[in-house]
Amino acid sequence: MKEFDYRRAHDVTGAVALLAAAPDARFLGGGTNLVDLMKTGVERPALLVDVRELPLDRVESTADGGLRIGATVTNSDLAAHPEVRRRYPALTQAVLAGASGQLRNMATVGGNLLQRTRCGYFTDVGGPCNKRVPGSGCPAVAGEHHNHAVLGASDHCVAVYPSDMGVALTAFDAQVAYETLDGPGEVPLTDLYLPVGDTPHRETALPPGALITHITLPAAPVAADSRYRKVRERASYAFAIGSVAAALDIEGGRIREARLALGAVASRPWRARAAEAVLTGAPATGATFAAAADAELAAARPLPDNGYKVTLMRNLVVSVLTELAEGDAR
Ligand SMILES: Cc1cc2nc3c(=O)[nH]c(=O)nc-3n(C[C@H](O)[C@H](O)[C@H](O)COP(=O)(O)OP(=O)(O)OC[C@H]3O[C@@H](n4cnc5c(N)ncnc54)[C@H](O)[C@@H]3O)c2cc1C
Ligand code: SF4
Repeated sequence: MKEFDYRRAHDVTGAVALLAAAPDARFLGGGTNLVDLMKTGVERPALLVDVRELPLDRVESTADGGLRIGATVTNSDLAAHPEVRRRYPALTQAVLAGASGQLRNMATVGGNLLQRTRCGYFTDVGGPCNKRVPGSGCPAVAGEHHNHAVLGASDHCVAVYPSDMGVALTAFDAQVAYETLDGPGEVPLTDLYLPVGDTPHRETALPPGALITHITLPAAPVAADSRYRKVRERASYAFAIGSVAAALDIEGGRIREARLALGAVASRPWRARAAEAVLTGAPATGATFAAAADAELAAARPLPDNGYKVTLMRNLVVSVLTELAEGDAR
């Protein structure tokens, strides 16, 4: 592990300035991803700017009935917060479906959203990987890709985005607020992660040196009855091979509003807009749910060993939507 300096920041402006003043500096949240990557040599920062003491550790209600979630709120505190559980239950379920209790106690909201892919070639510094070393190649396309992307990928990278939290936040139109030396900015979570294209090493739309300060969730009454379901290869303590965050507002047997996001299928949390368009205004039946899943997955381009994900996601979407509709009918 390369030697590095460590500074603890106490205010947002100071954190941004500390990072900007040092080449090769990184913000440190809980360290549960960054420090692992430093141990394997994927990340080699010269300075860590610890942000955990910043006053960004609150979940607060906003005037419009939404929530403002500080970037240093731990995953455990986010999942347990009574207003998150009441207004966006799929968010609590998503966070609790990730990692372990110990990791969730350390991991922060900002760090969770910016955690790196779990592609095995990315973490193996002995071999090529376009995301780690631009232009070096993508061994996953012809190699081990059974957990990799079926939507929105390219020949240059087929890795998936690993966060569960990000999928639920995407379904509920989260906005990401950040601070830079030039002042604050904001980006919708759906636009935070850049399309892979031929530049998989360029991962987010954040300006260089940006500190995520908080996430805003707009009011979404539909989210009060929402679900997150995750499929994984072990019963616990494993990343998703497919996941769904969903919410339905049904009145008189018809769907008034639908929210749907898919996880572990693309390089970013995948907002299922095509499926939502099929669902909105349609009868809440199994046929509608299947048509919605098919509409979204028509864009899937699986590789030889991950075609199973298309079937898995179709079944998962139909199953979660059916569960929501049956709950509504009771
Ligand atoms: C064994 C294991 C299993 C796991 N299983 C799951 C799982 O099933 N589902 C899941 O979603 N996750 C899982 N995780 C990942 C875990 O959730 C992440 O490691 C964690 O959320 C990252 O948060 P952190 O605060 O520790 O980030 P850090 O490791 O501190 O940072 C991660 C990245 O974010 C940057 N960063 C941190 N805070 C900010 C900020 N405020 N502004 C700008 N940049 C920032 C850092 O510079 C770094 O690049 C697992 C992790 C492990 C080790
Ligand atoms: S899928 Fe992406 S992260 Fe994995 S080896 Fe290919 S370029 Fe690297």
